[in-house]
Amino acid sequence: MQINLISDTITKPTKGMLDAMMSAEVGDDVFKNDPSVNALEKKIADMFGREAALFFPSGTMANQTAIKLHTQPGEQLICDKYSHIFHYEGGGVSFNSGVSCKLVDGHRGMMTANQVKEAINPPDFYHSPLTSLVSIENTTNKGGGACWDFEELKAIREVCDRHQLKYHLDGARLWNALVAKNESALQYGALFDTISVCLSKGLGCPVGSVLVGSKEDMNKALRIRKVFGGNMRQAGYLAAAGIYALDNHMERLAIDHSRAKEISTVLQELPFIKEVAPTQTNIIIFELDERAMSMAAFMQKLKAHNIQIIDMGQGKLRMVTHLDYTQEMHEKLLEILVEL
Ligand SMILES: *Cc1c(COP(=O)(O)O)cnc(C)c1O
Repeated sequence: MQINLISDTITKPTKGMLDAMMSAEVGDDVFKNDPSVNALEKKIADMFGREAALFFPSGTMANQTAIKLHTQPGEQLICDKYSHIFHYEGGGVSFNSGVSCKLVDGHRGMMTANQVKEAINPPDFYHSPLTSLVSIENTTNKGGGACWDFEELKAIREVCDRHQLKYHLDGARLWNALVAKNESALQYGALFDTISVCLSKGLGCPVGSVLVGSKEDMNKALRIRKVFGGNMRQAGYLAAAGIYALDNHMERLAIDHSRAKEISTVLQELPFIKEVAPTQTNIIIFELDERAMSMAAFMQKLKAHNIQIIDMGQGKLRMVTHLDYTQEMHEKLLEILVEL
């Protein structure tokens, strides 16, 4: 049995999802004539209580489009030092938008409203870049699937309003936060200018992200997506997977979360583990006590048991639970871990 915990992106479509895809009604989405894409966009816009949404081939492109939408070349955005948009989008912030990032030294990928306020460059001080956007991530990827306190997000909104900044949410794993904290998409839709969500992570789709916001912003985003080469034709086959996932794979995220917590608890008790970050959703980040076991030895042992996990650098290891990680795999993994 192969147990792959490197990411929640490794899932393959379920039988139900494939059936939904195969029977999708499609058209040419470049002419906005694909009924399944239109239905997915409407469904997500409605979930968030927003006017419009736009389907993208990746979360990276959805985030990069939002950044382009909210900034002008030479300006600066504020984000946490762990942000995906800074670390894992190929430098797109500067490549696509000509914008720099002011990195905030937050906690597990989350900043306070006060830190955001202090990171804003005074608009009349023309020597520094003009601050125009704040981007946050929920749940935080590099922060170990941590969920924000909604009150802090509201306080950041107030800072944005006072300083005329746009506010973007990289919600690649927002679904996990909604399930873990029993929050609603509507409360997020009311707070942010734009939100990107991934269908190809916890929800188990093969492809797809969606950006949601005002009609005006999504009209502009349509042009940007075109320039980025993100137009797709009969994308309804993919959108149908998204609709199926929203209807069938959302509530079960709680299972991923409880399995992750169980793994975290077992890891904490192992003598060669130095630290396990608090596990709130489906991501477990931990560090070895390398005097007791080296990283190479640990990875080798896991490999011998057909277990794959990921090295996040700086001594941190990551496991992610997901739709294709079964109860059988889970029981097996816990057994193997205690015997290492
Ligand atoms: C995965 C991820 C994205 C987007 O990734 P793609 O692989 O481009 O779909 C964006 N933000 C965060 C926090 C992510 O984890």
